[in-house]
Amino acid sequence: MKVLLFILSIISFSYALPFSLVKHETSKNEGPTLLVIGGIHGNEPGSYFAASILSQYYTINKGNLWVVPNLNPMSIAMNSRGIHGDMNRKFADINISDPDIKTIQEIQKIITDPKVDLILNLHDGHGFYRKEYKNSIFNPAAWGQTCVIDQESLDSNHPYKDLDKIALAVRQEVNDGLIEDHHCFAIRNTNTRLDDEAMKHSLTFFAINHNKPAFAIETSKNLPMLHEKVFYQLRAIEGYMRYMGISYTRSFDLSSENLKNILKYDGNVTINNTTALNFENLRNELSFIPLQSEGNDFKFSHPLGFVVKTNDKYDLYIGNRKTSSLTPSFHEAGIHEGNVTIVVDNNRRNITFATEFLVTADFKIINNNQDTRVNIIGYLPKKGTEEANMQVGLNDLDPKYSLDRDHKVYRVEFYKGNRFCGMILAHFKQDTR
Ligand SMILES: [Zn+2]
Repeated sequence: MKVLLFILSIISFSYALPFSLVKHETSKNEGPTLLVIGGIHGNEPGSYFAASILSQYYTINKGNLWVVPNLNPMSIAMNSRGIHGDMNRKFADINISDPDIKTIQEIQKIITDPKVDLILNLHDGHGFYRKEYKNSIFNPAAWGQTCVIDQESLDSNHPYKDLDKIALAVRQEVNDGLIEDHHCFAIRNTNTRLDDEAMKHSLTFFAINHNKPAFAIETSKNLPMLHEKVFYQLRAIEGYMRYMGISYTRSFDLSSENLKNILKYDGNVTINNTTALNFENLRNELSFIPLQSEGNDFKFSHPLGFVVKTNDKYDLYIGNRKTSSLTPSFHEAGIHEGNVTIVVDNNRRNITFATEFLVTADFKIINNNQDTRVNIIGYLPKKGTEEANMQVGLNDLDPKYSLDRDHKVYRVEFYKGNRFCGMILAHFKQDTR
């Protein structure tokens, strides 16, 4: 018997915040809600890459999952603990002139939202925690491979008030699937109220003072590979979800090898709805990219996508990795319906701006519009300025001008006078030279 499947999980995004908030909510909107926060410290990539995979590749079937993958986006791009100081020391009080104030106020609103039942704050910490001192890596002052709690239980009643008991259950689950034995997880109780002056200013202590169960997950900075850190973060997060009765599916088998491949995928960016760049094989430096002098809208498919504007460039980041640096050519926006007729390998069709088309032999841009100029970047046989209505193969293109390192992807740009209307990309499937 065939069963009709209907969509249970609704994913929504919030763009008005200084960070991203991705909500996976079941259509009935019932059951507990877990809030996972990545990237409070910009130099802890296990934290924010785990949160980004959680937001992209998991489907929630029961309960709800809210993910902030990039609480501190600029510090993440700069791979700095905090470009304005330690954000995790600003939750008890914050100066009104502190540049982090909006972030702190907005995340505090989300933490105290009545819907949120449990909070995880993700970190990568130094070393491997051990009760006894062994050496500078394995010792009681290390944070790596721990579930951190501020106290044994919450002060008031709550279904998840027993922090110690919950952390113990999660630790057990994580330790049942270690890559190497010395990666074992422990519980670190900071006894914040009595013992730890610094942690009184932390996100988790703020949460428990609002009667919200909160834990930090710390994977070790001393794990050699990013995918290993992400593996343990996700194992621990899944442990908390199971404890809460949040049921999920993910589109991959959880292994560090699979994560290694997923982490390579940077996705794409759409700029002003007129231009799209695919990060796969994209050159590190791109010149004369048509942009507006201000108000450019960059939409990344990856949750950790971020733009840093320098003096004369736009640097594109995925997490702490700079993927490409764009040198702009400034143009005002031209009015165009955004629809283009092309003939690809003798097949005629229409495509829209900010897309690419695959070519085997050649393509032709049909342009019957007198006031629109077509510019194929790197087109060699320049016959006047008109580059439309010409058959273009890979041999007609100068490889220096390709967008990608393999010299397969070329820009086709549309202008009205000096105004930039939009771009499509010709992607040659194989080298026919
Ligand atoms: Zn941290």
